[in-house]
Amino acid sequence: MSAIRNVFDVLATKAEAAIPIQDSDYTDEATGLLMCGKCHTPKQCRPFPDSDIAVYCLCVCMKADDDAMRERLRRNEIEQRRNICFHGSDLIGTVFADDDGKAPTLTKTCKAYAENVTGVNSRDWLLLWGDCGTGKSFMAACIANAAIDAGMTARFITVSEIEQHLWNSPDKAAVYDEMNRTGLLVIDDFGCERRTDYMDEIKFNLIDGRLRSGKPCVITSNLTLNDFAAPVDLTQKRIISRIFERAKTFHVQGDDRRFAALKSRAEQSSSSEK
Ligand SMILES: [Zn+2]
Repeated sequence: MSAIRNVFDVLATKAEAAIPIQDSDYTDEATGLLMCGKCHTPKQCRPFPDSDIAVYCLCVCMKADDDAMRERLRRNEIEQRRNICFHGSDLIGTVFADDDGKAPTLTKTCKAYAENVTGVNSRDWLLLWGDCGTGKSFMAACIANAAIDAGMTARFITVSEIEQHLWNSPDKAAVYDEMNRTGLLVIDDFGCERRTDYMDEIKFNLIDGRLRSGKPCVITSNLTLNDFAAPVDLTQKRIISRIFERAKTFHVQGDDRRFAALKSRAEQSSSSEK
């Protein structure tokens, strides 16, 4: 037992340093354990029932402080991840709770995708395609925020922004690595970037690398299924066939919600001026 006692003596010294003793702390007469003068719960416990060895532990109020500090650190980490993900985009605060419910099937699909991605480490891809302003980016941002809230990393980015990163970075491979490492990649407005061989190469590297990483990806696009079905050249065909290898597609329909919101604001301001 003396070897064990020596080990505990060393641990006890370390624990004592980590658990500050306050003037108000006292020894419980019945158990001989040190008690917290604030919450009146033990600051010591006996790991072996048949031994008088006592080790320091967190009392209830110190445990609560410790939990609160861990929660603050966790939230800070999440907010840092959110800032990195959205890098200045207005969509940073976009969550499912803000959904107006006008497209229930879209909402259901995106929520199910988010739950799947955060719950079972899914490799699935989701392609949201349809007209401008129908809520594709909004929903993709909701998915990214849900992933971040669940402890994942995510990036919400356009191909043009990746081109900018590549332009500014001396290490091109590191830019692609970052996109492949992130837990969830959202490529917003795919297909709206200018068509050049250089941009096609970026798109292929991005899509191909992500597919090889085995990680999930959400793509939003104004392209139609006809556009996807009739690529203009071999490079486009390769890019599109890689996307369809993994992606489930969802046709996002409806009125232009951004136009509707502008119209509603304009009507409100004109009625308030009357
Ligand atoms: Zn206490």
